[in-house]
Amino acid sequence: MSELKTLYQEMILDHNKNPRNFRAMEDADRSVEGYNPLCGDHYTVYMKMDGEMVKDISFTGAGCAISKASASVMSAMVKGKTRAQAEKLFEQFHQLVTGEVGGENHIEELGKLAAFSGVSEFPARVKCAILAWHTMKSALEAKAETVTTE
Ligand code: ZN
Repeated sequence: MSELKTLYQEMILDHNKNPRNFRAMEDADRSVEGYNPLCGDHYTVYMKMDGEMVKDISFTGAGCAISKASASVMSAMVKGKTRAQAEKLFEQFHQLVTGEVGGENHIEELGKLAAFSGVSEFPARVKCAILAWHTMKSALEAKAETVTTE
């Protein structure tokens, strides 16, 4: 398990250092700002839809390593997915970081998301990890223009 944890930490560090899809999108259909006042994490998620499919997704902003790595993994996983698939990923990630998922089987299904399973042990970090996901969900629904974790 400790080897797995090291692997997870390395993945989070890598995504923090080299975030995927980290750019503004000029021709986005929608953009939503996400803010976590407890930590100071602040991101904008850009999205371009093609019917029911997330054709492109990107983000800009700044925050702690967990929030940035989470936004990076989120963008990589949601890109090319349908709205329903992206909402399912949100639910799975939410359960993972709030500690509602038990058992290795579930964790294996989650793939890269599993790297964030350790976050559930640190309640203050859950909001960092979930911020980009909440922001993405709001962009999917084209609801609010600003999301805060409070
Ligand atoms: Zn944070």
